[in-house]
Amino acid sequence: MMTLKEALGLSAEERKGLKEALKEKIEAKKELNAYIALDEAGEGVPLLIKDNIQVKGWNVTAASNILQGYVAPYDATVIEKVKAAGLAPFGRANMDEFAMGSSTETSFYGKTLNPHDPQRVPGGSSGGSAAAVGAGVAIAALGSDTGGSIRQPAAFCGIVGMKPTYGRVSRWGLGAYSSSLDQIGPMTQNVEDAAILYDIISGHDHRDSTSADVDYTPVAPNLNPGRKLTIAVVDNYVKDASPEVQKAYDKAIEALKSEGHTIVHKEMMGAKYDIAAYYIIATAEASANLSRYDGIRYGNRAKDVKDLKELYIKTRSEGFGEEVKRRILLGSFVLSSGYYDAYYLKAQKVRHLIKDEFEAVFEEADLILSPVAPTPAFKFGEMADPLQMYLSDVYTVGVNLAGLPAISLPIDKTDDGLPVGLQLIGRHFDEQTVFDGAMSLEKAVGYSK
Ligand code: GLN
Repeated sequence: MMTLKEALGLSAEERKGLKEALKEKIEAKKELNAYIALDEAGEGVPLLIKDNIQVKGWNVTAASNILQGYVAPYDATVIEKVKAAGLAPFGRANMDEFAMGSSTETSFYGKTLNPHDPQRVPGGSSGGSAAAVGAGVAIAALGSDTGGSIRQPAAFCGIVGMKPTYGRVSRWGLGAYSSSLDQIGPMTQNVEDAAILYDIISGHDHRDSTSADVDYTPVAPNLNPGRKLTIAVVDNYVKDASPEVQKAYDKAIEALKSEGHTIVHKEMMGAKYDIAAYYIIATAEASANLSRYDGIRYGNRAKDVKDLKELYIKTRSEGFGEEVKRRILLGSFVLSSGYYDAYYLKAQKVRHLIKDEFEAVFEEADLILSPVAPTPAFKFGEMADPLQMYLSDVYTVGVNLAGLPAISLPIDKTDDGLPVGLQLIGRHFDEQTVFDGAMSLEKAVGYSK
């Protein structure tokens, strides 16, 4: 598949043929179930869109039964921006329902397959976006990342996925999961494409009150893989990862050294606090955000009800899947009086400590090298216990809690041919360094799909 950079260099005439060629490829790999539908919005370079981003006129559903029949009345800010840059939204990407999950198994439309092994998950929640780019049936895609949903599927499918600093990309028109954590970001074939797409979607937006009004210099024209950086490795993080991930980690460290970067060793408090704080905050915000799906304002409405209360209950019982219900219950619990201080308030304090800890590392280092997931892509059904699946987010959620930018890129392949990705985490609003470091690492490891 041609890269985004190449596609943007085509004439209008050449771009027309691109969509037709792409449609044939998608049809040939239909069994992946990466695309929910082949909706189109305008002419340009086709860009796959996760099913939780508003595209005017599309039946945007967050892969949920409850949003069947809802038609988006407006374009998200990122969609306005990609259209203005000569891209054309093309296709809705499969995902976990309301972006809740790490495997794309909770989608109303059924599971998406990993392009490297059909027995395995593509990751989640942006699994459709990652599988399509990884399989060569999308040039590039947009995903969203609340606790790893861009980076982890990117790692499982052998592509690049980037989560911008919180506030860098407008959330206006993104279906809200956990508003203080959600960010939209690029999912692409290589680091340079990620930088190009990141530049297109970034910038202040007055319609999103959490959008950051800070100076913005485009990163793609300034990419410099030759910069010598100081990169922290977190030894106590990595020892809990699988041997394949540890091997990729060692390979990346050697590659970074060979490029002339300085490696410093750090310890971080880690993992278990990140997961606990994340699953309290994310579910608390989700329980509030999802209250709007009441059968009155959007999408599906239950039939044969005797009063308003029954309408709400039946609509929500029928409309939401099991995982979404579990999270609404969890979130309502941690916010309820009597438990608020013990759970929600405590989690907010822990969040602050996590942020402080990252900042302490960044006093000495420009970037942190970290695993993305404890293992390569797991098998369908292997994570049947929800808690076990939550624990697999251990390496990604801290970045969202701290609001930092991070990029996941493919480093290695297992003996079975499964991709292994790692992430580079940067300082707030220092995406330039994240991309520079990633480009240098990409070049040094020489990964090819
Ligand atoms: N797997 C995490 C969760 O289920 C992250 C999801 C996401 O980033 N949207 O919450």
